[in-house]
Amino acid sequence: MPDSPDQTTIHTPLISTHTHTDLSRCGRDDMTFAAIVDQAEALGYAAIVLTDHVHVPWYTDYPAHLERLAQYRTWRNGLRTPLQLFVGAEFEVRRPGHVLAPPEFVAASEVTVVAPNHYQLDWVEPLPRDPGAAAAHELDCIETIINWAPADVIVHPFTGGGAEMPANVLYAAADTGRLRELCDRAIQADIAVEIQPKYWRNPLADRLCGFFEQWLDAGGKVALGSDAHHLAALSRWAAELPDIVARFELTAADIWWPGAAASQQQRERA
Ligand SMILES: [Zn+2]
Ligand SMILES: [Zn+2]
Repeated sequence: MPDSPDQTTIHTPLISTHTHTDLSRCGRDDMTFAAIVDQAEALGYAAIVLTDHVHVPWYTDYPAHLERLAQYRTWRNGLRTPLQLFVGAEFEVRRPGHVLAPPEFVAASEVTVVAPNHYQLDWVEPLPRDPGAAAAHELDCIETIINWAPADVIVHPFTGGGAEMPANVLYAAADTGRLRELCDRAIQADIAVEIQPKYWRNPLADRLCGFFEQWLDAGGKVALGSDAHHLAALSRWAAELPDIVARFELTAADIWWPGAAASQQQRERA
């Protein structure tokens, strides 16, 4: 849709920087490459980033997964569509100081989104039970991502604590000075922070709106990720996104765009 200077509605490109296909074990069967492309085109998406989970080798079949990613890139290169499609990965912090990201997957990823808090997984160090200690642990994991050079996006911060430690509780218990310092470092490192459906109209995560406002005020970019695991979630995200854009008064300059990360990755591989 062309922008005209007199328009009163905010138009920002429809994008999902965090999207699972049926390659992720938690991705539903309807999330095939072709179905995602069809759905995204029908809904008017400008860009989709595929970010399937890369877990430990006894859970993710590395050779099969790499082969599928290569297939996705080949199919993507053959598309004749204005939709921009990027083939990336969702990596995770396994414990403070360690991102679980095999080098062959980093090399194969045009975009890297990283989860600080997949605490529900057996191989990820769990959160301490005390809120203060848990928040410090979450910040340690966020810092681990900032220190990891290939990171493009920190996904769903403060959301991994389950029912006992909802995002609001974890965020409220975080050391604000340290969090501000980490945000400054993330911005300097060109790392975006994700806004996604977990935060939207969720009374257990609504305090995070304050965090995103501060992040944007400090000059940070937000990645708009649906975290879709089934096709209907792509439609829901398309419907929610204008409200999110209006809520945070997002302009194109606030929104992280995957193209730069992808071309950097291609340069490094060339
Ligand atoms: Zn995740
Ligand atoms: Zn995800």
